[in-house]
Order: sequence, then structure tokens, then C-alpha cells
Amino acid sequence: MQTIPHFINAQRVSEAERFGPVFNPATGEQEKQVVLASRARVDEAIAAAKAALPGWRATSLARRSGIFFKVREILNRRKPELAAILTSEHGKVLSDAEGEISRGLENIEFATGLSHMLKGEHSEQVSGGIDVHSVRQPVGVVACITPFNFPAMVPLWMIGSALACGNTVLLKPSEKDPSSAVFIAEVFAEAGLPAGVLNVVHGDKEAVDVLLEHQDVKAVSFVGSTPIAQSIYRRAADHGKRVQALGGAKNHMVVLPDADLDMAADAAVSAAYGSAGERCMAVSVLVAVGNIADDLVAAIRSRMADLKIGPGTDPSSQMGPLITAEHRDRVASYVAGAEGEGASVVVDGREQQFDSDGFFIGVSLIDHVKPGMKVYDDEIFGPVLSVVRAETYSDAVRLVNENEFGNGVAIFTRDGGAARQFEFDVEAGMVGVNVPIPVPVGTFSFGGWKNSLFGDTHMYGPDSIRFYTRGKVVTTRWPDPSTSVIDLGFPQVD
Ligand code: NAD
Repeated sequence: MQTIPHFINAQRVSEAERFGPVFNPATGEQEKQVVLASRARVDEAIAAAKAALPGWRATSLARRSGIFFKVREILNRRKPELAAILTSEHGKVLSDAEGEISRGLENIEFATGLSHMLKGEHSEQVSGGIDVHSVRQPVGVVACITPFNFPAMVPLWMIGSALACGNTVLLKPSEKDPSSAVFIAEVFAEAGLPAGVLNVVHGDKEAVDVLLEHQDVKAVSFVGSTPIAQSIYRRAADHGKRVQALGGAKNHMVVLPDADLDMAADAAVSAAYGSAGERCMAVSVLVAVGNIADDLVAAIRSRMADLKIGPGTDPSSQMGPLITAEHRDRVASYVAGAEGEGASVVVDGREQQFDSDGFFIGVSLIDHVKPGMKVYDDEIFGPVLSVVRAETYSDAVRLVNENEFGNGVAIFTRDGGAARQFEFDVEAGMVGVNVPIPVPVGTFSFGGWKNSLFGDTHMYGPDSIRFYTRGKVVTTRWPDPSTSVIDLGFPQVD
């Protein structure tokens, strides 16, 4: 069986005392195993990152930028290879896998412009003969802890900016689909990144605990579920680290009565069921305002029948399996419990049969959902779309704002004034207007509000430069030019 190694100091390391299983979700077979790091292994990787820090910090911005250009070129060329790895371990269809890599590459493109992003500020003559300037310097060794659902994109969200800013990195990917992290680290090495600057350590809680407590780790970037995000935030902060911890979501799509019905139905289907709903920006609640609800539910239902679910390697598949059998069963339990909670199951994904041992489930649509029902309150993270009916715009906004999560939200309407008001009113970090999944492009930053993000800075883009650097302000005074032995020809300074 293939063993997925760590990547420490530019070496693959396959020895371990513990291993975790890696499944192909489309077949249900365990095809690989991944090494799980002990405390000593994580210490070794942190030491490698620490040792590489002075050299990388001193590397010119031009040289760093050149490495990102090469990474971009190699990843673009090898995109089909990486996409195949993603599909074999995560299950998402190949087109989604390629899309994920493209979105991740935006962060590498952003990193190529690091000379511009790292510019400081300068004030001349703040007092007689005194100037002040600011610089941004790396924080040190950065730990990046990532979830299973975007095994290439989320690591790229973090490592592009962290490395661009002159830090060295220890990436701890999800142990469920760990190969892409090693692939990406090897691409960086091929592009000329020195040994020890980007290390990959696989593991579970044992490895993460070391990262959170180790004095040589100065910053932690985390993306995952809310309970873990909250605990990471607290524990890393307790140990004096700066932390950004992005958590779970329950994204609402509000459809006003004047919306383009076909546009809204198409968007709801792709945003709820794409990537089997295992996206932190997936739409999981459709808020139908006023009299549009019946027509919208009917339009979504009719489209669901055409969705082709199958192995991600089959070009005709639009949705693949879920990540594990346990997760599929957990998703199914929400659909099973919905009727008992008072909701109506319009389409029951559990009824679809699959000729495979893979972790497949059909898509579900549940109507007349209300807060207080588990199907509404919990993050399901699967292909289940709930419909909540709201009488007015204000009821819809109240519902969204009272939800504990605030990652993404969307409004569908033809009314610019309503959309503008929604943007003003709604409590979420990312808002789409007739765009169901408003993931910001790489030149902006990504982050939610409320229980979707613990910390102050959002991820990638301009916020990431602030997170991965420390500010330093330098105040300078030179001797009075009139005392110079060189005739400067300047007027006397007052
Ligand atoms: P998860 O929280 O289970 O795991 C995330 C990471 O934390 C993994 O690397 C895992 O190994 C590690 N981990 C798990 N349990 C741990 C523990 N007890 N102590 C320390 N580390 C632990 O999340 P997941 O299931 O891999 O990913 C899905 C979740 O991530 C969903 O909740 C989804 O909404 C969220 N997510 C959020 C965003 C965002 O941008 N807000 C993006 C992607 C995914």
C-alpha cells in the first residue's frame, strides 16, 4: 500500500509509529496510508523551519517573486495530475478539482506581486531633521492547519502570502486527503524554494497540539470546523501566538419575490450540491421571501432530477461521493430526522441507489424548515438544501443575522436598492448579489463573521500581509547638514 510521507527539509520522510487510512471515496477502498507525526517528528520539522528562516528572510524580494512565477507555471502545467490526486482522495469531480487549483493559484499570483505588497511608508521631516519610516518584517515560523474539503486551495490561501512575507512554514494538512500538500511542497522545491522553508507534517490532534504550544511557532493559520477553530484560537493565543482560525458556516441565499427565477434556481442547485455540499461557502439555506417560494421549490426540484452523481473521474458526473462513510451517514441522519422536526422532505437523497461501495448519497431538498430544527441549526456539510419561508425582506435579514455563523450570504433580486440595503444590513463577511458563492478573488481577503472566524484578520489578499508580518517603525535623525564636511549646498534647517 502506498504510504504518503512527510516533507521535511526537502526530504520525504516515511517512517512513523502511527499511520492513518486514506480512502478513495468513490470506491470505498482504503488505497493509501498516511504517516501520523509524533511529537518528536513535529519538533524536527519546526527545527527545520527555524533553521531555514534567516536565509529565506534575507532572500531578495525579486528572487522570492521569481519562485512564485515558477510555481505558477509548474502548477498550471501539472494541474491535471494534481486534480487527479484530489479526486482520488477527496472524491470531487475532476472539473471541481481543477477549479480548486485555479482558485488557489490566484494566491500564488498575488504573491508574485509581493514587492508591491511589502512596501512600507515614509514621512519626511516629522520634526526638524527627523524622518520616520515603517517596514513590515516576517513573524517567523508559521503553522498552517487545513481542512479536508479544499486540500489544494486552502493550503495555497496560506502558504503563498506566508512565504512571500519571508516566513518559513509548517503545513499540517487534513489527514483524510493529505497527498496534495506534499505535491505542492515538491512543486515549490522544484521552483527553487530552499530546503526547510516549506515543510509538510501529517498528523492529528497530537501533531496540532505541538504546533499550538511550541515556542518557535509564532503564528497559526487554521481553517476547519467551528469547535476546533475556537479551541485552536484560544490555545494558540494562550501560548502567545497570533492566530486566525476560520470555522464552519451555514450560508443563506435570500431570494426576493422579484428575482429571476431560473437564475436563482440554477444558482441554488449548483451552490448547494456542487462538490457534494462540502464547501464552506456552499448554500445550505434558501430563504424564499413572499410568494416566490412554491415556484422556486418546484424549479429547484425539477433541476435536481438531472443531476448526475458518480465517480469524480467520470466526465459526465456533476457530483461525487462524500469524504467518508461516517460523514455520509451523518448527513443522512439529518434528512431522516427532518420530518419528525416538522419540515417536509421534498426530495430524499437517501432513496437514490448507487451501484458502488463508495460514499455516495443523493441530493436532498427540505422545505418548511425553521430555526430550532437540527437541520437548520447544525452545519450539515453535505448535499442537503433547506428552504425557509420568510414573509418579508426584514424577516429574511433577521433570520440571517440571528444565525450563529456569518461566512457567506447571497441575495437574488433585480432591485439595486434592495441589494444595496442588504449589503448594509447583513451580518456576514462575504456577500453575493445574484452570485451564490461570493468567494473573493485573490486581491481581496476571505473571511466570515461571528462563529465563522476567530481572530482579527481574514485570509489571503491584503489582510494576509498584515497577519504574516510585524510592523516596525524607524525614526531617524542625521547630524545637521551644515556641520557636514561635504558642502551640500542646502539651506539651513530651522
Ligand atoms: P476539522 O475541524 O475536522 O479539521 C480541520 C483540521 O484540524 C485538520 O487538519 C484536522 O486534522 C485538524 N483537527 C481535527 N480535529 C482536531 C483536534 N481535536 N485538535 C486539533 N486539530 C484537529 O474540519 P474538516 O472536517 O477537515 O473540514 C470541514 C470543516 O471546515 C467544515 O466545518 C467547513 O465549514 C470548514 N471550512 C471552513 C472554511 C472557511 O473558510 N471558513 C473553509 C473550508 C472549510
